[in-house]
Amino acid sequence: AYIDRIKSVDPALQAYLTVLEDQALAQAAEVDEKISQGQALKPLEGIPMALKDNMCTEGIRTSCASKMLDNFYPPYNATVTERLRAVGTILLGKLNMDEFAMGSSTENSYFAKTRNPWNLECVPGGSSGGSAVAVAGDEAAFTLGSDTGGSIRQPAAFCGVVGMKPTYGAVSRLGLIAFASSLDQIGPFTKTVRDNALVMNAIAGHDPLDSTSVPYETPDYTKFLVNDIKGLKIGIPREYFGEGIDPEVAKGIQAGIQTLIDLGAEVAECSLPHTEYAIPAYYLIATAEASSNLARYDGVRYGYRADSNDVLGMFKKTRAEGFGQEVKRRIMLGTYALSSGYYDAYYLKAQKVRTLIKEDFDKAFETFDVLLSPTAPTPAFKFGEKSADPLAMYLSDITTVPINLAGIPAISIPAGFVKGLPIGMQLMGKPFGEGSLYRVAYTFEQ
Ligand code: GLN
Repeated sequence: AYIDRIKSVDPALQAYLTVLEDQALAQAAEVDEKISQGQALKPLEGIPMALKDNMCTEGIRTSCASKMLDNFYPPYNATVTERLRAVGTILLGKLNMDEFAMGSSTENSYFAKTRNPWNLECVPGGSSGGSAVAVAGDEAAFTLGSDTGGSIRQPAAFCGVVGMKPTYGAVSRLGLIAFASSLDQIGPFTKTVRDNALVMNAIAGHDPLDSTSVPYETPDYTKFLVNDIKGLKIGIPREYFGEGIDPEVAKGIQAGIQTLIDLGAEVAECSLPHTEYAIPAYYLIATAEASSNLARYDGVRYGYRADSNDVLGMFKKTRAEGFGQEVKRRIMLGTYALSSGYYDAYYLKAQKVRTLIKEDFDKAFETFDVLLSPTAPTPAFKFGEKSADPLAMYLSDITTVPINLAGIPAISIPAGFVKGLPIGMQLMGKPFGEGSLYRVAYTFEQ
């Protein structure tokens, strides 16, 4: 049914870069066989899903939506790919994204323009646009995306689905093609909060092959789906409702807050005073780390290689032809920020600001269990509306990037409609507090 659905809607939506029809149908037949023999299935066994195209899949093209990796067939699976295989899910294919996960609209893909199923003239958000659209358009039961500065939560909000960015270190990044290593996290897109918790059960947990993976006892996340939030303390950071936030979006979120009060939560305003510095700090740190991570694409070890008579010329031509405009912009910004004489003024300073932002959250969580805000300042925008103005695009990340700088978990859940388009409510939690986020999110589904 999912393969048929992909065939009927994906020519318009363009969420998929690769569809694995034969492989998926063969796997499904095996599960059908088990069912007909009366064998018990594991919770996710036989569930059709798809992965963002920056997660390694052995022998299956993993392009990062870049010309640079157009011909990259990884020799190994990412840990998440491996874990989802182990619990019996069926991989339907690989999903479109902004090139190397850089962007907020999926317009930076080298290959395709993914469209928002709610309005085909609008972007799906990004960078995990394909992952959000595949779930919203019923082209997969669930998908995985990656979130460096909002790339799971913002497209989830734009497409009206649930998207979780787990705590930094909660889900292994082995085999996730790196963008900004101190910020990147993998997480699930689903239709419901329960599905989201089930997928987290399968992918979270320590991985000795990823040095940033934290050894911790993963709970059964479905245990938090209790439909009771009485006495839970929820903070509303005032900086997330101010300048730049569409008043209609703020109003929609206020309605959600009222629901939580009615259900017995204790809600109060709070402050995260360094929020205004999050965008500049993020765009220094993310570009600096990206410039370093992307140095490996030299035409020798991976992917695309341009024709040239000499080695240096080959490096230059490969990178000039293989990377798109936004990726080049970030490599240049990041290289500049890291260059000698500038390191202290830019990168080091941004890291100090990052600590202040983290401390804002620590302080708020002394009082509150969960913080709440809009996921994005506006609903989905039109194609081309921001792509000519990188700064306008960067500024739209104001509500999501502080969370990655602090390393804490956050989930986006559907919170109604503005101008006929879905908007998202963001819930932020303490490190490894994903359970509390599921608890609050779940009450909205009841
Ligand atoms: N929009 C942000 C950026 O362009 C976040 C991207 C992401 O989370 N991968 O960097």
